[in-house]
Amino acid sequence: MVRRVLVTGGAGFIGSAVCRHLIASGNHVLNVDKLTYAGNLASLSAIDNAPGYQFAQADICDQASVSEAINQFRPDHIMHLAAESHVDRSIVGAREFIDTNIVGTFAILEAARAYWLALPSERRDAFRFLHVSTDEVYGSLGPDGLFTEETRYDPSSPYSASKAAADHLVTAWVRTYGFPAVISNCSNNYGPFHFPEKLIPLVILNAMHEKPLPVYGKGDNIRDWLYVEDHAKALDLIVSKGRIGEKYNVGGRNERQNIEVVRRICDLLDRLRPRAGSYHELITFVTDRPGHDHRYAIDATKLETELGWKAEENFDTGIEKTVRWYIENEWWWRPLRERVYKGERLGLLKTT
Ligand code: NAD
Repeated sequence: MVRRVLVTGGAGFIGSAVCRHLIASGNHVLNVDKLTYAGNLASLSAIDNAPGYQFAQADICDQASVSEAINQFRPDHIMHLAAESHVDRSIVGAREFIDTNIVGTFAILEAARAYWLALPSERRDAFRFLHVSTDEVYGSLGPDGLFTEETRYDPSSPYSASKAAADHLVTAWVRTYGFPAVISNCSNNYGPFHFPEKLIPLVILNAMHEKPLPVYGKGDNIRDWLYVEDHAKALDLIVSKGRIGEKYNVGGRNERQNIEVVRRICDLLDRLRPRAGSYHELITFVTDRPGHDHRYAIDATKLETELGWKAEENFDTGIEKTVRWYIENEWWWRPLRERVYKGERLGLLKTT
């Protein structure tokens, strides 16, 4: 069945993968994005002429604009990804995180609820709203254990606190208004079109430019990496088949210490793009991030058993694809990197 899917934040890293996936599967997509520093329409160049794809520039905090977009497009599903997503930026200044992640989620929930209530009953029953969230809402794990859907929320950063608040709003809208929403909480994503302020693209591009490869603390923080296209497929499954009011954890069972990730990238670059010395020489340890969570790891059993999802990419194949993509796609990252070095402070390191 061809679906009409409104995606917020579709010009971002994960949102653009979701739009590409939905269009490739024959659906109609309206991408609603404010185009902040993190939004990049170049990530959608493969689909921007596709007959089923449309783009509307709008701020999700502006409820009237969001309502207009929803009412004109008349979606079957809304996938809500628009957010401020960079932990380090949230530490420097949290205002935009509160506005977009909390107030913006409230605005889109209200716009979507009014639209849903006015739908004819058949379409009302089929309508779904997916709120895309993060495993960072659960806080930090010790050496053992995994985050399940029952893990208590315990966010550490302004970013994760703002996402946790948004998750609670969505749950309240389900319980109070019967609004048909589902929540997903995913681990760290990586892959093509990832903005070069985040750990993996930052390390690849700094290495290619002979710049230091900054690693927080001792580099022993652990993240559970998921290839972005596996996340996009999981989100499609959750919005289509997930049960209303449920949460689904999404993760690739690929736990790695940050320093392991950086060393793996150096090994790949030594092989794929040799330089005079080894790229490992560029690794530089820097002062740790305040409130830095030690370990995240996801138990995705519910998504795997209930909805039949499984990550297709393991970390070794996914990271090689990613390094090759950055080597081959300078057209995409060159303009962003030039902005970084022209003084827009985009080059902070994200390790979450
Ligand atoms: P991103 O920063 O790459 O993209 C965010 C997008 O949202 C951008 O296109 C930006 O222009 C848009 N946006 C920001 N504020 C907006 C506003 N007020 N109105 C409309 N659009 C706005 O983020 P991402 O990494 O693609 O993450 C997408 C979602 O997935 C976020 O909700 C994030 O919390 C969640 N998430 C991310 C990860 C990860 O590893 N990147 C993991 C789990 C969950």
